[in-house]
Amino acid sequence: MKTHCSFCKKTSEVVTMMVTGPEGRICDQCVTQASQIIQLQKEDNVINDIKPVNLLRPQEIKAYLDEYVIGQEEAKKALSIAVYNHYKRLAYPASIEDDVVIEKSNILLVGETGTGKTYLVRTLAQMLEVPFCIIDATVLTEAGYVGEDVESIISRLLYAANYEVTAAERGIVYVDEIDKIARKGDNPSITRDVSGEGVQQSLLKLLEGSIVNAPPHGGRKHPDQKLTAVNTEKILFICGGAFDGIARTIGNRINFNSIGFEFSAKRRAKIDDKDMLKYVSSSDIKGYGLIPELVGRLPVIKGLEPLTKSDLRRILTEPKNALVKQYIKLFAIDGITLTFTDETLDFISEQAISLKLGARGLRSICESIMHELMYTAPSLKDHHQLVIDKNYALEQLSRTRLELLRQIENNSQEGGLKKMA
Ligand code: ADP
Repeated sequence: MKTHCSFCKKTSEVVTMMVTGPEGRICDQCVTQASQIIQLQKEDNVINDIKPVNLLRPQEIKAYLDEYVIGQEEAKKALSIAVYNHYKRLAYPASIEDDVVIEKSNILLVGETGTGKTYLVRTLAQMLEVPFCIIDATVLTEAGYVGEDVESIISRLLYAANYEVTAAERGIVYVDEIDKIARKGDNPSITRDVSGEGVQQSLLKLLEGSIVNAPPHGGRKHPDQKLTAVNTEKILFICGGAFDGIARTIGNRINFNSIGFEFSAKRRAKIDDKDMLKYVSSSDIKGYGLIPELVGRLPVIKGLEPLTKSDLRRILTEPKNALVKQYIKLFAIDGITLTFTDETLDFISEQAISLKLGARGLRSICESIMHELMYTAPSLKDHHQLVIDKNYALEQLSRTRLELLRQIENNSQEGGLKKMA
């Protein structure tokens, strides 16, 4: 019996397949067409959904970051503004009546290890509605060398976007350890190194905006592989790095300027030596070995403050997922009320300062202190209260982590735990 498609009226003889429902039929051609219409509508909605009226304002984004990240006010502000503007740029592309294009302002975060660069960006990613990925610049190499091509960044973003190209094209990428691809030496043509200027040039292309053909599932490109074309023009790039030793360059520049412009001694005294990164500028970054074109594509440069003992003390207890809160929760599950004395918290922050790993050191110190209790406490029958005092912390730290002690000894001028061991 001849049947008709209820949509296009074609008969079953001229189509490949007919799907029958309770009220009618649809042919395979109409199904394909309908699917394309749905896809286009979805993509339109993605763009139209992003209206700043529905968006968190920069102050609200910063308030969210404040719940997790201690200090780093300037970096938090810069990131909040950049993300808000990124959404605006997506929502209002240049129109025919008004050809003003809102350019993206990629960001460079400069800060010692463990000051929260990655953590800031990760926290931000939790609240974002755009695909986001983190990539370590140290794994990037020029095409043809062993390592990952710059295109792998786009592969990862595609993965984060569930392989939806339009979504990936409005994503945010964090490139960590960008200082590690700085040009080494003064003569780049002779010292053509695997992870040097070539990688910077390829990265520049992504930052400037170009069509990148990326292997959708990562890995190396090979001739038969199907590549996905992604336009990087609207992707926001946030880069981060420790730039070891840059504080000296900044210091020299500021001193030079103060002499050049005869800054008053009072003003010079105001410049805090320890907190030089606050004054980092694009010229310092160029001096470090990033090519000027790349630096030019990172118009917002923010230095992160080194964390003080009191910052570390606050990091232990204040953020929403603070370490101490995590241990308290772990023990509460076993019916044990855990407390840390103020003295213990001071002690842990002091030790973290001697480790010189910023907030990163806090976790390894706490793990050493809590290791034994995490093993024994769940089997304790009559203990419902545990108090971690300084003596216990000290004893555990010196007993369980000789290696940690050694690290502290190496890093510490004054002795730190050395004296106590
Ligand atoms: P880096 O600057 O080297 O990228 P990370 O962001 O990886 O440092 O920091 C390591 C860990 O230390 C984070 O996962 C976070 O738990 C903690 N941390 C670092 N800085 C802060 C901060 N300012 N506030 C709260 N936690 C922090």
